[in-house]
Amino acid sequence: MPEDPMAKFSPTAQMPRYLQAFQCVGPACPETCCSGWRVTIDKATFKKMKAIGDEPLRRRIAIHLVKDDDSNPAAWGHLQMEDNGDCGFLDADRLCSIQKQLGANALSDTCNHYPRQFQQVDGEHRVQATLSCPEAARLALTDAEAMAPVAVTLEQFANASELPPGMRWNDGAGTPKVSHLGGRVLHDLLVSLFDAPGLGAFDALALGLMLVRRVNGYVQELAARPEGSTPREQRLQDLSELFSRFMDAAHNTQLLEVVRGLEAGTRFAPDMLRTVTRMIWQRRLTASARTMLGDVVAGLRLDEADEQVARERWAEARRLHWDDWARGHGHMLRNYLVNSLQSSLIGRHFGTPQALEDAYLDLVIRAALVRYWLIGQMALHGDAFTPEMAVRTVYALSRSIEHDRRFMAGVLQTMDEQGIRSLATGVVLIQ
Ligand code: SF4
Repeated sequence: MPEDPMAKFSPTAQMPRYLQAFQCVGPACPETCCSGWRVTIDKATFKKMKAIGDEPLRRRIAIHLVKDDDSNPAAWGHLQMEDNGDCGFLDADRLCSIQKQLGANALSDTCNHYPRQFQQVDGEHRVQATLSCPEAARLALTDAEAMAPVAVTLEQFANASELPPGMRWNDGAGTPKVSHLGGRVLHDLLVSLFDAPGLGAFDALALGLMLVRRVNGYVQELAARPEGSTPREQRLQDLSELFSRFMDAAHNTQLLEVVRGLEAGTRFAPDMLRTVTRMIWQRRLTASARTMLGDVVAGLRLDEADEQVARERWAEARRLHWDDWARGHGHMLRNYLVNSLQSSLIGRHFGTPQALEDAYLDLVIRAALVRYWLIGQMALHGDAFTPEMAVRTVYALSRSIEHDRRFMAGVLQTMDEQGIRSLATGVVLIQ
């Protein structure tokens, strides 16, 4: 049937439950998104802004809207922040002057949709959020059921061209490639491991890591065989057997026992996390990140030259506080990891072992850093450590690392130079 051009455009999207409830809290936000980073401006918004003749906006645009050399229409320019990190369009009442003067339609895609992130997976719409927004982080982390998927109608777009570009992951028409099918199943399976009864977030993370290792092992084995010697049906069957093993609770329990029995040593993980934390501590940080990391530095005495002191304080705080806290608040880490998996779609790297390994290692390092920082704050605050501090830890980490792609790339590069960039390092960090 031909499409009715007058029909209302209202696609259905899948999103986590917390995002359905999300509303920007504006001036009540503990750390507005209008501060502390680079805001990318798409080409259409850039042109619209340059055409504004009304004062005082025109003057502010001349100072703060900067053209980038990039020829990418989604990143045509950026907003130059003030010296204190604030957006140059932020008024004294901490509200956006563009939105106040011209309405929400005049905002760039980045500002208009933040913290939402749009995806299209085989034509299905999905919406996620970055937990760099304090309110999104609060909603996502404090409710154990926050990640339950819900179907929501997207009412705010008049037609398909208004949907933000977002991440697209599809395989075109025709018979889907094995790498595409395998990637989708891998993605769903990695997420589902976090739903297994009785498993903690780090158990699920460890099982996911073993799964990624096996998948990469299989892909490398295939690459070593003569081209075309393993028919498509055989590859699908092999993968389906591999995946089904990780759906078996008995198999997973046994595997976890093996992982727990691996010799991890007591130095490598805390020393590495201390080094990364000190690297982050040297950076320009948002106020919340500086306060939170200040507590970690004080709790673990990271500013002292002696690594041994930091290691002992971390081990003691972990022994005294971590297990109890994780029993009552384990869903906070779980939700952070599921949200990260969903927004980065790690399975799309299926078939490229280095990219898949790096994407998973990135997730493991962030999970280990969050735990290290939580324990560091517990070392300082003891039983006075609160869930609000855990929420702040996640949005501070998200702002200081996840929005700067160069940072984690630099960490992986350093690991490479030291010969420790591998999933084996991931196992040690998880333990
Ligand atoms: S960070 Fe989130 S809650 Fe805060 S001002 Fe931005 S969108 Fe609103």
